[in-house]
Amino acid sequence: GVKVHFPIKSGLLIDRTVGHVYAVDGMDLTIRRGETYGLVGESGCGKSTFGRALLQLEELTEGSVTLGGVDLATLKGEDLRRQRRHMQMVFQDPLGSLDPRQTVEQLLLEGMQAHGLASDKKGARDRLVELLDAVGLPASALSKYPHEFSGGQRQRVGIARALSVDPELIVADEPVSALDVSVQAQVINLLQDLQEEFGLTYLVIAHDLAVVRHISDRIGVMYLGALVEEAEADDLYAMPLHPYTRALLSAIPVPDPVVEDTRERILLSGDLPSPANPPSGCRFHTRCPWAQQTRCSTERPALRQVTIEGLPGSHRVACHFAEGIASGEIQRHAVEA
Ligand code: SF4
Ligand code: MG
Repeated sequence: GVKVHFPIKSGLLIDRTVGHVYAVDGMDLTIRRGETYGLVGESGCGKSTFGRALLQLEELTEGSVTLGGVDLATLKGEDLRRQRRHMQMVFQDPLGSLDPRQTVEQLLLEGMQAHGLASDKKGARDRLVELLDAVGLPASALSKYPHEFSGGQRQRVGIARALSVDPELIVADEPVSALDVSVQAQVINLLQDLQEEFGLTYLVIAHDLAVVRHISDRIGVMYLGALVEEAEADDLYAMPLHPYTRALLSAIPVPDPVVEDTRERILLSGDLPSPANPPSGCRFHTRCPWAQQTRCSTERPALRQVTIEGLPGSHRVACHFAEGIASGEIQRHAVEA
């Protein structure tokens, strides 16, 4: 039930709220210990804000976040600090998130000191060397500054920093979007290796389904502040049910150019509507090729389990007509050329 609404302020003399950006507007999801949950959606859909809200870096307008059964909003003082330590973030732009005036040693020590993990100098240094080794960087990196590294190496520093305080959950917000394609796979593989080595749980945020495909156990697709579909990764790719997911998947090129691409292309009309003024009913109805009068524009669909033969019970979708669309009973509207 997580909602994060930002007030839009207006007026120079009288500061008043003239509206809200409904950045996150009713997110319900569970991340299981040890899994990788891929959260996917267009930029502006609220996925980063949701990731930050999970880590208590955004104030919730409504709803709650619980970790191991404990409502994080109820924690105070030392308990809150300890909890914070267990949830870390890896950012999209490692250059923007690393202080350029600090060496890698200072960057990594900062978090450890804040959590009282660096009181023994020798022990702390050994730990830093271990951390760098874990992310594939030499000990000599400790005395260097962020600008002295390539993008991929900087992301390794960012990951080492998140690891330095021994987290359980890592929220990785577009961890490879800023990297060259050739480097992306290396960083993804590193994240996977580290997950195994340290028993980590991941929420990986991405704007396209191709990036999260191979690392995610489950995937959630987000549109304008809420999930529209959630399933085991393989099931989502094999049988996407929500029109938005189908459109996203049809946009991914087939990897083998020799194989003829026979899939139907689903093109979406128009841009992502503003989260300050989301459409009524199903938020996707203004772009949905299957939208039906008038239910789609008046009634907001809940994320629900659908009963379709062969579909695992864990597959959830927020569409009134998911069954009819899957069976072909409901046809999509003709697209004008
Ligand atoms: Fe399309 Fe209606 Fe389903 Fe929304 S509820 S995705 S508008 S068919
Ligand atoms: Mg973002």
